[in-house]
Amino acid sequence: LVRLRRRLAGSNNSLARALADLLSADRIDDDTWDDFEATLISSDLGVAPTGELVESLRQKLRVEGISDPGQAKSLLRSELLGLVDPGLDRGLNLDHEPGQPAVVLVVGVNGTGKTTTVGKLGRMLVADGRSVLFGAADTFRAAAAEQLTTWGDRVGVETVRGEEGADPASVAFAAVDQGIQRGVDVVLVDTAGRLHTKVGLMDELGKVKRVVEKKAPVGEVLLVLDATTGQNGLTQARVFSEVVDITGIVLTKLDGSAKGGIVVQVQRDLGVPVKFIGLGEGVDDLAPFDADQFVDGILG
Ligand code: GDP
Repeated sequence: LVRLRRRLAGSNNSLARALADLLSADRIDDDTWDDFEATLISSDLGVAPTGELVESLRQKLRVEGISDPGQAKSLLRSELLGLVDPGLDRGLNLDHEPGQPAVVLVVGVNGTGKTTTVGKLGRMLVADGRSVLFGAADTFRAAAAEQLTTWGDRVGVETVRGEEGADPASVAFAAVDQGIQRGVDVVLVDTAGRLHTKVGLMDELGKVKRVVEKKAPVGEVLLVLDATTGQNGLTQARVFSEVVDITGIVLTKLDGSAKGGIVVQVQRDLGVPVKFIGLGEGVDDLAPFDADQFVDGILG
């Protein structure tokens, strides 16, 4: 929690400050509320969720006659928590039949942190006592397979890779096939994601899933979004969810200048939970998403 707080500090705790401003104003009028609302919107919370939150907070403060900053903050905290945690199941689905590995596809636009996330997830699962295999199905980006193999070496996971330019689906298939032969618990598949406007590449993703499922069910499709891209991430999420059923979001780069509010929007839009957050470039910089800690981090 301390680490998350520190990482989010400076980017998001303006929210707590905005609340303090709101309460210390001589008179809380519409302008004061507008300022508060603007701060929420600028933290990527989205216009509709912000409107709901402000309306609800306003009403509760008035009805309950709250002017104590501590009480107001805890009210804001519970309102935020309601938005951040709409009761979605955040567990990673690693169920699998005997003789088959659990298969996790990791998808997203290039540069969001897919390969890094596969590496970190591998680390986490290995530490958890599971046997893991990586599949380097991002065959479009020249260095991707190499990068994943390096991650594999770092975290003690073998990587199945194909020729550069090979069919991504065939590499994913080979990885799952190897996973079955070796009896591993989990196969993590890194996929290509050039631009979401490249229709062919998006179709490719659907194909990867279909082909892999000839071998073993895909239990998770994790969409990696770069938190620093704000609303762009939301657009990407919509496009990807049209091609494959996303089961969870990994929000990366929350250690930077990101405004974590995008969590609320993307969960609401896709009806899919944020399952992990990326907090840096190191092997241990991935954490399961925890709504309470997250809200505390935002409020500072
Ligand atoms: P891919 O193209 O989607 O596979 O993206 P990469 O995994 O290659 O990551 C792109 C860049 O983002 C790399 O420089 C990573 O080190 C960096 N990166 C990934 N996740 C995080 C994160 O959570 N925080 C920070 N600061 N950098 C990250």
